[in-house]
Amino acid sequence: MTVSTAGLSALVAPDPHATSVADAVIAGLMLPEDGIPVHDPATGELLAKVPDLDGDAAIDAVRTADSAGVKWAATTPRQRADVLHKWWALLVEHTEQLAHLITREMGKPLNEARGEVKYGTDFVRWYAEEAVRPGGGFREAPDGGSQILVRRAPVGLAVLITPWNFPLAMATRKIAPALAAGCAAVVKPATLTPLTTYYAVDLARQAGVPEDLIQVVTTSKSGQFSETVLRDERVRKVSFTGSTGVGRQLLKIAADGVLRTSMELGGNAPLLVFDDADLERAVNGTVAAKLRNGGQSCIAANRIYVQDNIADAFVEALTERLSAVPVGNGLGQGTVVGPLIDDRAVKQMLSLTQDAVSKGARLLAGGAAYDSAGHFFAPTVLDNVPTTAEVATAEIFGPIAAIQRFNTEAEVIARANDTEFGLAGYVFTENLDRAFNVADRLETGLVGINQGVPSNAAAPFGGVKQSGIGREGSSEGLDEYQNIRFYNIARRETR
Ligand code: NAD
Repeated sequence: MTVSTAGLSALVAPDPHATSVADAVIAGLMLPEDGIPVHDPATGELLAKVPDLDGDAAIDAVRTADSAGVKWAATTPRQRADVLHKWWALLVEHTEQLAHLITREMGKPLNEARGEVKYGTDFVRWYAEEAVRPGGGFREAPDGGSQILVRRAPVGLAVLITPWNFPLAMATRKIAPALAAGCAAVVKPATLTPLTTYYAVDLARQAGVPEDLIQVVTTSKSGQFSETVLRDERVRKVSFTGSTGVGRQLLKIAADGVLRTSMELGGNAPLLVFDDADLERAVNGTVAAKLRNGGQSCIAANRIYVQDNIADAFVEALTERLSAVPVGNGLGQGTVVGPLIDDRAVKQMLSLTQDAVSKGARLLAGGAAYDSAGHFFAPTVLDNVPTTAEVATAEIFGPIAAIQRFNTEAEVIARANDTEFGLAGYVFTENLDRAFNVADRLETGLVGINQGVPSNAAAPFGGVKQSGIGREGSSEGLDEYQNIRFYNIARRETR
């Protein structure tokens, strides 16, 4: 496998002046001259440097957020809702700035970045609405001797750790429910994409979120951060989105302090296309589930299983679509697939492709990296991927469609579930009975049925097995930031 542009269409170039929107936002962030460099993955250009905070600075952030949290917890649900509504409105008003910033630091095409702004801001809107519905209830003891008042209280100071692939949405999906519940937050964004978080938190402050309530901590020493911060007694909760390996490490530290934890971890989504599927719908859904974010999504279709009778037609149509996808700078006209996040990711795609081909997979499209300053890899189709290939078990996190064929429903369900992961699954079939039966038997937290983009603010997003613990979004997402308590009220005995 060579690193070559041979046979690949030219990369889409950025529109002239398109960088100025993000540049203006970055200039307004008042970042230091020294610190952790943040690069544009499409060009390698240095965008900014963000503070590289040590353990002491992180503890200062904990102290500051914790004291602001005392006042915030005492606000009324309506006060919190009003502030969140204002934050949502400001975020929406600054959609273009946010989208350009996301594209610049993360690479996804501008239209997709606008989609992330819509998706990410919807969580703020949702939790503005949920803030006035904190829950609670009233029960009667079975023997009638007492009454139980169930109350929900903020869990306390929450540490929120986010990945680089959705710089806005992964932050708002945590910050908004934390604030709605009455918690303060220390947010640690990924060092590859911290600028969107800084900007979104700036807008939160402009919207009336108390200055100290959300502390953003950027650091190149994330291990030191978690060892220090998660052991601080003021911290009561950690919510993490990222890889399963790091999630395990954080769970071990959290165990010592018996912290509340939410873990949104790695995925390895099976996508099942049955021979009774609508071919066009299945191809569209697969393209969406595979290429969103260039495949760098935890719910990306990772193992594509196609039933024998429809396989040739499906593979041909998918190959045609993926071969024609414009690849290039996210700020260019019509770009559908942007750069991967870094060079390591490109090397990983090359290695996965090479390994699969050497073990017998058929390479039908792509399979090559671009010789460019950015980190581009062509959308790739591999058919007849053997189960021994690494791409059949690894979380790909890139634009490789790895196809395996299957014969029976029972067989494909067993193969789909043969993984320690359990985040998303997809089923394409026009048979309603089959759709529900298969979805029921997939060991995943969510299933897209005849569609490839299953997440939105109303959905309780999260995994089973080693894909995670807890849910984000929906009313369940608020539960993660609340402690449930009850008062047992004795009934006066009457004769
Ligand atoms: P990652 O685990 O390398 O990093 C995630 C975050 O954790 C970053 O902020 C990173 O700096 C930080 N981190 C790393 N080591 C740490 C430590 N010891 N202590 C504290 N923080 C630490 O993941 P990534 O490469 O940024 O993201 C990709 C992974 O995230 C994939 O596995 C993907 O499936 C997963 N992901 C999951 C979801 C979900 O909702 N389940 C969503 C997006 C991404």
